[in-house]
Amino acid sequence: MSYWIDTHAHIYLDEFKADRADMLGRAAEAGIDRIYMPNIDHTSIDNMLELEEKAAGVCVSMMGLHPCYVKKGFEKELYLVEEWLGKHKFAAVGEIGTDLYWDKTYWEQQQEAFQLQVAWAKQYQLPIVIHCRESIDETIDLLEPLLDGKLRGVFHCFSGSLEQAKKVIAMGFYVGLGGVVTFKNGGLDKIVPEVDVNHVVLETDSPYLAPVPHRGKRNEPGYLPLVAQRICDLKRIMPQQLKDITFANANRLFNHGI
Ligand SMILES: [Zn+2]
Repeated sequence: MSYWIDTHAHIYLDEFKADRADMLGRAAEAGIDRIYMPNIDHTSIDNMLELEEKAAGVCVSMMGLHPCYVKKGFEKELYLVEEWLGKHKFAAVGEIGTDLYWDKTYWEQQQEAFQLQVAWAKQYQLPIVIHCRESIDETIDLLEPLLDGKLRGVFHCFSGSLEQAKKVIAMGFYVGLGGVVTFKNGGLDKIVPEVDVNHVVLETDSPYLAPVPHRGKRNEPGYLPLVAQRICDLKRIMPQQLKDITFANANRLFNHGI
């Protein structure tokens, strides 16, 4: 039997401090039975692992350094990531990648951190969860020489062009779709109909990017069906079909039960 999987949600953050149990209850009620949590930096690890322990089997951790936190002293952050990868089982190396939207100061270091973390993903045979903002082409260029036929992953919160989506899929990677598909100006209404759902996984990126009609407010995994419904409308398929396919895709991506 399949269920909805939120492949990207930062539900360990303080935004959920007051109602975390209720939020998880709403997610379960909405049929979201697994939630993957990408790490950010050293400040998020303890809360993430605590939640993974409390909600065992539902909330699953990843380990990585987010590109927006590749700053002065990032070597120390990377050392911590490497240490954790060696002592705890994680579902993926993430979230990692590049970001040219917020700050370009550490572009060189961002590339270095990405390449290093991809090498660790290969070492531990883990998938990678990629964040790239205003930098899809640059990230694809960085990734292409690192492909070895076994490396797999997802371009989370995909908001690029059809050409870029095709490149992501050609590399064997998944396209992560979230709340942006519901935005009127998101641009994905023209792209999603052309993307084969066999290469799609669903996500919320909670607490960010809440889908319509919650746009601008705090996002939570329980809103995932709103994202799914929009994709179903664009693809002209039934929710059960999308559920079955994205369930299988997420399991393949994260090597769950395989
Ligand atoms: Zn994220």
